[in-house]
Amino acid sequence: MATSSYTDTRLLINNEWCDAASGKTIEVLNPATGKPIGKVAHAGTADLDRALAAAQKGFEAWRKVPANERAATMRKAAALVRERASDIARLMTLEQGKPFGEARIEVLSAADIIEWFADEGRRVYGRVVPPRNIAAQQLVLKEPIGPVAAFTPWNFPVNQVVRKLSAALTCGCSFLVKAPEETPASPAALLQAFVEAGVPPGTVGLVFGDPAEISNYLIPHPIIRKVTFTGSTPVGKQLAALAGTHMKRATMELGGHAPVIVAEDADVTLAVKAAGAAKFRNAGQVCISPTRFLVHNSIREAFTEALVKHAESLKLGDGLTEGTTLGPLANARRLTAMAKVLDNARATGATVATGGERVGSEGNFFAPTVLTNVSLEADVFNNEPFGPVAAIRGFDKLEDAIAEANRLPYGLAGYAFTKSFTNVHMLSQQLEVGMLWINQPATPTPEMPFGGVKDSGYGSEGGPEALEAYLVTKSVTVMTT
Ligand code: NAD
Repeated sequence: MATSSYTDTRLLINNEWCDAASGKTIEVLNPATGKPIGKVAHAGTADLDRALAAAQKGFEAWRKVPANERAATMRKAAALVRERASDIARLMTLEQGKPFGEARIEVLSAADIIEWFADEGRRVYGRVVPPRNIAAQQLVLKEPIGPVAAFTPWNFPVNQVVRKLSAALTCGCSFLVKAPEETPASPAALLQAFVEAGVPPGTVGLVFGDPAEISNYLIPHPIIRKVTFTGSTPVGKQLAALAGTHMKRATMELGGHAPVIVAEDADVTLAVKAAGAAKFRNAGQVCISPTRFLVHNSIREAFTEALVKHAESLKLGDGLTEGTTLGPLANARRLTAMAKVLDNARATGATVATGGERVGSEGNFFAPTVLTNVSLEADVFNNEPFGPVAAIRGFDKLEDAIAEANRLPYGLAGYAFTKSFTNVHMLSQQLEVGMLWINQPATPTPEMPFGGVKDSGYGSEGGPEALEAYLVTKSVTVMTT
């Protein structure tokens, strides 16, 4: 598959790229221009049936491959991904909009994730438990759960797939993913690396189409044993309910609304640098994006001024243009969503310190925005904005900032800046989040758990916990005769 220019994307079934049986396709747009750049195949039921049969066959073959050999194949895939990082990143920027440098880091980190999981799969240990009868042996076996159905979004087209894929494969599961129709080519290039690395046919599969139609078909299907989804909380709740009805194990990585607590004793320069970079990365379309900036009133003005300066220093443009630090929003829906967020913020008394509007009339460009005097009732302080908007409120007591952080039903990421050990202790103990970064930007690594609490979902996509999701436990007791 040529990856030097944008290519149409087909379905991957049985290690072969194919069109949908109906020949149906969906148009792919470049968010920097709003113009079509290619097409992606739209799967129907006949295609899904073939993909499911392939996943079953792939599971039967892949589970029999010893863990060390599975690791070697995964490492080969990682090497191919690393070798092709610039080509895959270019595809990603063309279809998703993020700056090329960010896309390249995403692809390189995918290779790192594959390698970590490849090795971790060699340490899936069972147990030998002392028996109550000396003639017996009690074993606890860990086995792959079976074919996995994954659903991934468009904000990190490669990263959202690779965490699920690597955990599933290293445990011996096969993996069928419905990747995003808006950004199909870069995840296709990721899966192509696994095909070339030599996974048995059906071990990995890729489909696109109508998201609801596909999830409604795959989740209840008896071949599928595990469901994993990343996306919005409302959709996640629907899919979790469907998985529950059919007794399928599920991992849900859903929305967030990350608080950033900047305490009285914080290093303001560090806080602006770290939280500012995290806020505007991928134009804020990140589930762990810092969103509610809670800043101690004694430093609020200085912090706001510095954050505005940071936002205004960003270079908005086409992600493939040299020097661009902020790309367009990934799709036109986000522009509409941002306009609504801003209208509501103004109507509820917020001041727009910088940005606040669409830039130009071509492509989905939105200015990096900082809001102050934001009301607690403002939409931006209650629902995930998923865009380049930082909303600031002041506080006087750390207890109040923690209470505000915990007010929402979300509990994904949190950030804090402070030099005090007492504050660190209090924040670590009391913030209701799945991930907390203190005095630094988010650095999600494959070896650390990644996931949320409350309405942000359940299950983890990092660390040894991520493997648990793809394993079942079998207890075997043997009596010697
Ligand atoms: P959306 O909520 O309809 O879709 C979010 C993702 O879920 C998309 O990838 C979509 O294809 C998928 N999806 C939607 N309905 C589905 C279904 N029934 N079955 C399977 N998959 C389904 O809307 P959107 O406009 O794409 O995004 C809107 C919001 O979603 C954002 O504002 C953000 O809050 C959230 N989102 C979160 C993440 C994340 O990383 N957690 C990523 C993308 C979007």
